Formats: sequence, C-alpha cells, structure tokens
Amino acid sequence: MPSHGPGSPPRQVPSRSRPFECRSRERPSPLPRGGVRNVILRDVTEPAHDEAHGGSLGERLNWLRAGVLGANDGIVSTAGLVVGVAGATDDRSALLTAGLAGLLAGSLSMAAGEYVSVSTQRDSEKAALAAEKRELRERPEEELAELAELLRRRGLSGDVAQEAAVQLTERDALRAHARVELGIDPDRLTNPWHAAWASFLAFTVGALLPLVAIVLPPASARVPVTVASVLAALVLTGWSSARLGAAAPGRAVVRNVVGGALAMGITYAVGNLLGAAGV
Ligand SMILES: [Zn+2]
Repeated sequence: MPSHGPGSPPRQVPSRSRPFECRSRERPSPLPRGGVRNVILRDVTEPAHDEAHGGSLGERLNWLRAGVLGANDGIVSTAGLVVGVAGATDDRSALLTAGLAGLLAGSLSMAAGEYVSVSTQRDSEKAALAAEKRELRERPEEELAELAELLRRRGLSGDVAQEAAVQLTERDALRAHARVELGIDPDRLTNPWHAAWASFLAFTVGALLPLVAIVLPPASARVPVTVASVLAALVLTGWSSARLGAAAPGRAVVRNVVGGALAMGITYAVGNLLGAAGV
C-alpha cells in the first residue's frame, strides 16, 4: 500500500511549538498594549498557516499533490501490469481484462487502505479530545497551569502566558488545549470516506492512461506507444508533484521516470520469458 493517498495529504503535522514559533519570528516587536489580548487569542487559537481554513492555499496544494501521487501510482502499477502481459501475449482481450482488473484492484485497495488509515487517525484524535475534555472537567486548575506553561515555552513571558491561558480557557478551554497541546483542530478532523473516494479517483485516472494505450494501437505498436505515453505522463506527474511540494523538479522527474521505466522493463522481461516458455 503506497503511503500517500489523497486522503492523507502530506499534512503539515501541527507540531506543538510551531504556530507560535513562526509567528513570533514574524512579529518580534512587543505586542501592542491595547491589543495584547486579541493578538494572543488569535495567534494561539489559529492553527499553523497551512491548515488555517478548509480552503487555504497550502491545504489545497497538499490535496492536489496527494492526488498527483495517487495518479502516479495508478500509471506505474497498471503500466507494469499491461506491459508484462503484452510481453507474453498479443491477445487484446487478455490485455483488457488484465488492465481492468489491475485498475480496479489498485484503486479499491488504495481506497480501502486510505479509509482504514484516516479512520484510525480520526479515532485517535477523538480519543485524545475526549481525554482532554475529561481532564478539563476533573482538574481544571492543573489544566490551566499546563496551558500557561505551554504558552510560556512558546516564548510568552510568565504574566502574559498566564493572562492568555485564562482568557483562552474562558473562551473555549477544549479548543485551546486541542490546538496548543495536541495540535488538533477539533472542527476539522479528516473524513475517511472523502479520503477513500479521492484515492480511488486519483488511482483510476492514472491507470486509464496505460490501459487505453495498450488496448487501442495495433499489436506491433502497443508496447512502444504505452511506454512512450507512460514516460511522458511520469515527467508530468513528477514535475507537478515536486512543484506542488515546493521542491526542485529536476531530480523528482528523473527518479519518477527511471522508476516507471524499471517497472515496465522488468515486467515486460518477465512476461516475455513466460510467454516464450509457453506458461
Ligand atoms: Zn490539557
């Protein structure tokens, strides 16, 4: 199971110290007098930039990148499969059957894996929130002190941290603890069905390319057409996933193309051997 379905976009793991650290670097000057409370409340309760709101640019890019990677998996695994079968037989219906079975098996297993992994993540986030809720009810003073201490570690002076902790607790204690202590936004837990569906679609879109490329051309052109179109597609997916992840695209493209070429080369060789042996 590939580790990157669209359901789990390379999420910026909300490290405990991140929101405040990066903001305090952006805003090194002393907080304005009258605005102390508002500035602190906003800074502490907002999650890190990339996860700010459902439509934030960073988050959409993460989803898009996960989609590109899912499509990439569909391209490579289906291309390997159909080229392998093409090494053994010229029979078009065998190619179509193998390609369709590979498409469905891959997209369904991606979707199921994504569903399971996002559900598990969601369960553990819910359990952490429930534990936090209980602690807030059972020992509110210790929790207040804990929150103040966490804020202090993020660079607030003792008095300001105490003031901020009191204000946050009055406003919404659970939300404050969820964000500052656990790094979770309680309103935005990922939906496992969305994740599963997105994985299914991404893989399917990718898998259709080699499937069509192997089935449509005449027998003699099948493998060259498929190899050429798959390698071109891998240049595109490698380039765009690197760009979406703000990395230099050159190496990503080379790795991606070499990986895909190896997959097709190996399965074609094996298919050829099996075909020649009459298996
Ligand atoms: Zn707590």
